[in-house]
Amino acid sequence: MASGEFDLVIRGGTVVTSAGVMEADLAVSGEAIVAIGHKLGPGRREIDATDRYVLPGGVDPHCHIEQLSGGGIMNADTFETATRSAAFGGTTSVISFAAQHREMNLATVVKDYAALAAKGAVIDHAFHLMVANPDRQTIEHDLPALIRAGHRSVKVFMTYDRVQVQDEQLLDILLVSRQNGALVCVHAENHGLLKWMGERLVARGYTAPKYHAVSHPRAAEIEAIHRVIAFAEFIDQPVMIFHVSTAEGADVIRQARGRGVKIFAETCPHYLFQTMDDLDLPGLEGARMICSPPQRTASDQGALWQALELGDLQVISSDHAPYRMDETGKFSAGSRPNFKQIANGMPGLEMRLPLVFDALVSRAPAERRDENLMKFAEWTATAPARIYDLPKKGALAIGADADIAIWDPSRPVTLTDELHDNTGYNPFRGRSITGWPETVIQRGALLVENGQLHAKPGQGRLVLREAGPATQPTGRLAPEIDPARNFGAKLL
Ligand SMILES: [Zn+2]
Repeated sequence: MASGEFDLVIRGGTVVTSAGVMEADLAVSGEAIVAIGHKLGPGRREIDATDRYVLPGGVDPHCHIEQLSGGGIMNADTFETATRSAAFGGTTSVISFAAQHREMNLATVVKDYAALAAKGAVIDHAFHLMVANPDRQTIEHDLPALIRAGHRSVKVFMTYDRVQVQDEQLLDILLVSRQNGALVCVHAENHGLLKWMGERLVARGYTAPKYHAVSHPRAAEIEAIHRVIAFAEFIDQPVMIFHVSTAEGADVIRQARGRGVKIFAETCPHYLFQTMDDLDLPGLEGARMICSPPQRTASDQGALWQALELGDLQVISSDHAPYRMDETGKFSAGSRPNFKQIANGMPGLEMRLPLVFDALVSRAPAERRDENLMKFAEWTATAPARIYDLPKKGALAIGADADIAIWDPSRPVTLTDELHDNTGYNPFRGRSITGWPETVIQRGALLVENGQLHAKPGQGRLVLREAGPATQPTGRLAPEIDPARNFGAKLL
């Protein structure tokens, strides 16, 4: 390393890279990490990281920000409040949704969301293209153009009346994504089964929030994951299964990956740390915990952790979907709603990393600390950056963006409703955890220090993406698609 002064040196911390965990200094020049090593030269600014862990800033690839929900309700956060809370929780990049609803033009939708983010976001961000109106304009023109412009992931819902795509529309979207280089992310639940159960429960008077968990049978997730994998295999288009909640869902993914289908999958903190019993609260209190798919059982938690360990799930995202416990959010249908009328979703941007850090690092035996620190970075930052084509994000490496979270691993925190978003409650209130990201840096500049935000709204950047390895098809054609085996029909 040439001599001279760095802009920033983080000195004497435990640095977590994809290659290992080491006591080292980390130096930043401009916006990039330029050196990791011992006894690095001076920095114009220095941070003492003795007894601290130096980790990549989190990458949260599934969050709903300033978005109209599948149920038609505007969520509680602006880009400013959501990304501010992300920063306080150690996350420096988000992928949120440019959410098309019926009758909306996708190109306009993307322009509108990008303008909101440009005004408010304090951290770097990218968009999934959420397609709910797959008409000819969208499929033949807007979707290909937007993918090629750098929005390299597409989101579809297999359920919810307002946004659901039918099977043949899903096939169209898979094919367009294959032809233009995007990953397809799927909310996989069987619409008919949810509808049938929800109506039956309400008709019989089972209307309390806890019945939400009953109204989304495990079978709905299992069936829809099966179906979308069958389609993904048929079109040979890589797919990301969002928010896997059941052991059997993870099993279906494991089997598909085992036979070489290119499937990625994530789960979320509420499936790892909560169960359906968390919805069983007095009155309407359980509305706080309503999200879809719902929380399941302790044995599912174990299966999901195991699936992460095995690599069948690669990512822990927040699925941040904030609705206030008032008439603007959870109770927009009135003060005595049945569970079907309560907005689905919980805040998660700020708590994702501290909850996972506590479970994986703070509660691990000392001899597993390094291994688990690496898993923590992988599942919450490195893997999402790799899968979603954010090559400068998610890892501490020479040349990467200096997006860094410095953790105090021994700080005890009892969670309260005081978060930095605009939801007004914390679904994990009352839980005691250990470890907190005390200093957070984006591209070399301080985002959070000593509990203070140092960023201005709008300083986060929109990241446009290339088509990376995760978007590439395997080349294995289904027999009916392969002209060598389908009497010569050319279908792709
Ligand atoms: Zn979601």
